[in-house]
Amino acid sequence: MTGVWILAENLETGRELITIGRTLADNIKSDLTVITWQSELSQEYIAYGADKVLLLPALPQDQPLQSYIPVIAEQARQDMPEIFLLTSSLLGKEMAARIAGQLNAGLGSECTALRWIESEAALEMDRLFYGGAAVQSIRCSHAPRMATVAPRSYSPASRQEDKRGTIDELPAPQPSPVKLLERNARSQAAGDISEAKVVVCIGRGFMKQDDLDLARQLAEALGGEIACTRPISQDMGWLPEDLCIGLSAKKVKPDLYIGLGVSGQIQHLTGIRDARIIVAVNQDASAPIFAAADYGIVGDLYEVVPRLMQALSK
Ligand SMILES: Cc1cc2nc3c(=O)[nH]c(=O)nc-3n(C[C@H](O)[C@H](O)[C@H](O)COP(=O)(O)OP(=O)(O)OC[C@H]3O[C@@H](n4cnc5c(N)ncnc54)[C@H](O)[C@@H]3O)c2cc1C
Repeated sequence: MTGVWILAENLETGRELITIGRTLADNIKSDLTVITWQSELSQEYIAYGADKVLLLPALPQDQPLQSYIPVIAEQARQDMPEIFLLTSSLLGKEMAARIAGQLNAGLGSECTALRWIESEAALEMDRLFYGGAAVQSIRCSHAPRMATVAPRSYSPASRQEDKRGTIDELPAPQPSPVKLLERNARSQAAGDISEAKVVVCIGRGFMKQDDLDLARQLAEALGGEIACTRPISQDMGWLPEDLCIGLSAKKVKPDLYIGLGVSGQIQHLTGIRDARIIVAVNQDASAPIFAAADYGIVGDLYEVVPRLMQALSK
């Protein structure tokens, strides 16, 4: 058995996986191995805490990253890691499911916390359940115990200048029958809301699209980004999908979240549970968002926002 493995898609989420991977490797008194296809990051992963890097060779331009799956699965079959973690990105979830299928392994998806249960030699995984209303804890005690970890569940590992490790190359994959024809960057209407320190969220309390400028001005005054609830992006089409927050959209972790005309249904609250301070403006005092808010203003957003702007300008 070969300790804890993580598949790092990029340095940011890779460092988050290293944080929990390192803890688990120390729990089971074993090594932490990072698998990557980015040769330029191999030394970086060691500096951030990996004992070993397994480097996948570069792929021809027309080959998708999924071509690596058989190589990773074969290596895992040979080395049999105790624990194998991936990020729950689109790519990570697909790779995890297909690798777990090939290894007949247990897989917990979109986990928000992981723990080693010594007495059962089990990996305990927390994941949101019932649309985020409950947390489910599941245990897996058969190697390889696999999990995908929700981005930003753990803070990124810190650099240790004196950390040493080894780098081994994995074999090249067989050419995939699937060919990658072109890559197109997804259009982004604004900055990345999952990174924003301040988020002003637009809900159905806004009566028309032109009024969204009110929220834009407030976000600008606070140095933040605008975001929205599902009906604003999906039903009204007033803002793009990549600005939507919630269970089926982006999770945010700002220092300050301000919900304007947002009712606070559980599917939306799931996306803001890691916000440090939640402020709600809603004219209905019984709106569920007030139960989650640190500060609540019961009032008409069309009156409250201009007054907030006035106060800010002072
Ligand atoms: C499977 C599933 C997944 C979902 N995923 C998501 C998701 O990822 N993200 C998401 O956001 N939703 C999601 N939803 C939808 C979710 O259940 C809610 O319907 C949605 O979040 C409600 O959006 P809202 O708060 O903007 O609208 P509403 O619930 O209609 O609330 C509007 C609020 O504005 C207030 N208001 C009205 N006028 C004013 C005014 N002038 N001033 C102040 N307040 C005012 C009202 O009192 C009300 O509370 C999902 C639903 C399902 C079933």
